Amino acid sequence: MMDQGHLLSSRTGDVDVSGIRRAFQLGARLENPINLSIGQPHFPVPDALKDAAIDAIRADANGYTLTGGHDTLRDSLREFVRDDLGWDTSGGDLDVMVTSGTSGALVLAAWALLDPGDEVIVPDPNFVIYPVLGPMSGATVVPCDIYPDFRMTAARIEPLITERTKMVILNSPANPTGIVLDDDEMRDIATLCRDRGVILLSDEIYDLFTYAAARDDRGRCPTPAHHSRDLLVVRGFGKNYGCTGWRLGFAAGPSWLIQEMLKFQQYSFVCAPSMAQHAVAAAHSVDMSKWVESYERKRDMVVEALSPLTDLAVPQGAFYAFPAVPPALGLTGTAFSESMLDHNVIVIPGGVFSARDTHFRISYAVDDGRLAEGLEALVSVMS
Ligand code: PMP
Repeated sequence: MMDQGHLLSSRTGDVDVSGIRRAFQLGARLENPINLSIGQPHFPVPDALKDAAIDAIRADANGYTLTGGHDTLRDSLREFVRDDLGWDTSGGDLDVMVTSGTSGALVLAAWALLDPGDEVIVPDPNFVIYPVLGPMSGATVVPCDIYPDFRMTAARIEPLITERTKMVILNSPANPTGIVLDDDEMRDIATLCRDRGVILLSDEIYDLFTYAAARDDRGRCPTPAHHSRDLLVVRGFGKNYGCTGWRLGFAAGPSWLIQEMLKFQQYSFVCAPSMAQHAVAAAHSVDMSKWVESYERKRDMVVEALSPLTDLAVPQGAFYAFPAVPPALGLTGTAFSESMLDHNVIVIPGGVFSARDTHFRISYAVDDGRLAEGLEALVSVMS
């Protein structure tokens, strides 16, 4: 007889099954539901990337790549980082590496930086992997409450920094709120973390989905990388190009940290999927602006429908909105989301992303017709 309780690590008890999957399972009993729960774009991978992936497979580029990524991709990322972050990697003090999804970069950073007893500050509400980096590394996760405007500012982070703080995780454009910090806010956070000797991890996986009003004067996503080099930027290809299943991201940061992350990659993920690395080498020159504009219009549809009915911080990027459940309904986020299943609509309870269960997340990465139907059902319940 196997004694599971004895065999399983104590950290398994600290990790719950993802609430997103649970909401999805509940929705699975619905026939043709209006699914506003999915955290990925609804557009297909651009043909140029599909063709490049198929060509790579046919050209037998199916073996391991170098741990840090295939040379062509790594070089194109160095160029991209120079243009977009203003980081010159040729001096040797900064570097980039290819990772197995943005999640891969987060886990490698946690392994390389966090010991039991260390503290890592994360936003609340947050992307579901951040709190689990605690049990994975033994570190303590310190939530930074960013209700009700969802801006994780230096003023909110500062009082949480102790001598045990090793890392602050910032996410802009944000999941689940769509909030984008501006350049001044980025500068203040970068300065605070550098002055206090804490590594800032900037998760910029939704960088491409930064809507017009929130872009910086270069027309791009504001990033703390413009104000400091003592930080780790992680980005991905999955959301930007609709290839979440290809598991591809990258990290850029100080070489001393990238070197240690590479060590752990070598003994865990080994390398990111080879055909996907070949496929995205030219991705940054693919024009995705029509999709970004279409998502900005979908954002407008959501705001127009829901903001008269409840508190809604206007999303400035990503493809999520995080409205409050109207207090008059007297429902938690979980009860509200369950009640929406009766209307054939799947949304995710705020409690999945937060210590509070007062809001719900909508992903509006669906076609306009389905979004309009979903919003109509939400409006009817919320009014
Ligand atoms: N960071 C954030 C904020 C996310 O929302 C996600 C995916 N939902 C990830 C990281 C992980 O992305 P990937 O699929 O590239 O691992």
